[in-house]
Amino acid sequence: MNSENNLNQQLFQQLLGWQLAGVDYLSKQPSSLTEEFKDFFIGNQALQDSAQNDNLTQNREVSRSLEMLESSITLFADKEPGAPKDILSVAQREKALKILREEVSKCTKCAELSSTRTQTVFGEGPLSPKLCFVGEAPGGDEDRLGLPFVGEAGKLLDKIILACGLNRKDVYVCNILRCRPPGNRQPKSSEASNCRMFLERQIELVSPEFICCLGAVASQNLLQTTRRIGELRGNFYDFRGIPVMCTFHPASLLPGRSPENKKIVWEDMKKLLTRMGLPIPKRESQKGG
Ligand code: SF4
Repeated sequence: MNSENNLNQQLFQQLLGWQLAGVDYLSKQPSSLTEEFKDFFIGNQALQDSAQNDNLTQNREVSRSLEMLESSITLFADKEPGAPKDILSVAQREKALKILREEVSKCTKCAELSSTRTQTVFGEGPLSPKLCFVGEAPGGDEDRLGLPFVGEAGKLLDKIILACGLNRKDVYVCNILRCRPPGNRQPKSSEASNCRMFLERQIELVSPEFICCLGAVASQNLLQTTRRIGELRGNFYDFRGIPVMCTFHPASLLPGRSPENKKIVWEDMKKLLTRMGLPIPKRESQKGG
């Protein structure tokens, strides 16, 4: 049983590795790997019978492993070359995000960050949201709680979202990095590049209609540009077919920094709302920010 479980785990890691590396299709020919995996693992009655018995930790691991393997096979099996990206069902995307979150939680690609973090901060929000905010990296509060944008900057982001007539639970929020840089220093380019495969896969699975990049680090990394945030903000860009608006990071609007830029952020948000086909809340519109 142990050897089967180990092999199962190894195959799962291999499939996930291919998927994260950008492989999104495996042939569905009967002789393909996918079918062989299914025949051997999913169709293995003895293995499934064992998995149903959760009296032993060993069997619980097999059960979990089977579920993960089945999800990863599903990720590949329904895709055809050139097929639309949103071919996965909601249930498949939820499963794939769960797998991705688990993979992120074990990631040690950035040696310094993985050794100093309390936990990874994956991101949160619904699938297929109208809007996804992308920030820079977790800070101290986020690292402690495992949630994005929950500190002072997060409270300000909540206010911006409310001013837009939206609720935090209706938008997706994530960061360029999933681990806190020590002392809240800026992410290194190598760290952003290490974490990019997670970000790309996450956005693909979440599938937002619009993205709003918060600050220079988020904007420059998502859009792969060196242009300054002052130039980027207030304009629309494209990330894999998704319209992207860039604006200042809420942390930069806090007292003692540049709170006068709140008006500029509101101008950017109004542009975004208009493009999204949403009304600009009257009260805020009258206030002008
Ligand atoms: S920042 Fe991203 S790539 Fe780096 S260790 Fe954390 S999860 Fe891994």
